[in-house]
Amino acid sequence: MQNILSTLKNCVSHLLFPHNCLGCATDILNQQDLLCAKCQTELPVTDFANASQNPTEKIFYGRMHIEASTASYYYTKESLLQHLMVQLKYKGNKEVGIYLGKLLGHQLMNSKRFNSVDALIALPLNSKKEFKRGYNQAMAICQGIESVWQKPILYNAVIRTIFTETQTHENRINRWQNMDGVFKVVNEKTIEARHILLVDDVITTGATLEACGSEILKINNTKLSIATVACTV
Ligand SMILES: [Zn+2]
Repeated sequence: MQNILSTLKNCVSHLLFPHNCLGCATDILNQQDLLCAKCQTELPVTDFANASQNPTEKIFYGRMHIEASTASYYYTKESLLQHLMVQLKYKGNKEVGIYLGKLLGHQLMNSKRFNSVDALIALPLNSKKEFKRGYNQAMAICQGIESVWQKPILYNAVIRTIFTETQTHENRINRWQNMDGVFKVVNEKTIEARHILLVDDVITTGATLEACGSEILKINNTKLSIATVACTV
């Protein structure tokens, strides 16, 4: 009876508020899904969650000690994933972050490599950007992860201190130097002796994640892992 009522409720709400796939515009019945089943399976999965020494881990070799790292999907230009990222970062569509976070959360939950994670931290965005966007996209992803994996988000444990311009054309060394001192742990107690999963939308050079992660690792007995939705490696 409960199921019939729930299906009926879905149908009525679907009639009142039609809902289309963000990829191919097909009608979707479940309001929670942003992609139809076909588009979801077409996202280029990496399976890095189950692979040690994967390319996102190699980025940090010799730079920072991490337990594990993963990215859900390969990022390519003019792809469905790029379209979703544009929606998340420039079109004010926070739901995309939560949705992709849930997909990432399932991958993390099904991988033994991330079992010992205690809590999630979203890579802090500078306040100007967050104000302009209305939210931090990494936090939206964390909220999606938390909703399926039940690992708590630590809010305001780490902050971003300085405004930095996008440094797209600078090399990795310069970017790292520019990142020095950008992040600060402001609530050591919540991090101490815990295994933190640092979350962001995309991993490219890893410079920003390294700058933030290395501050977290300065706190007593912390361990660090990294998870992003996309990677360009
Ligand atoms: Zn579709």
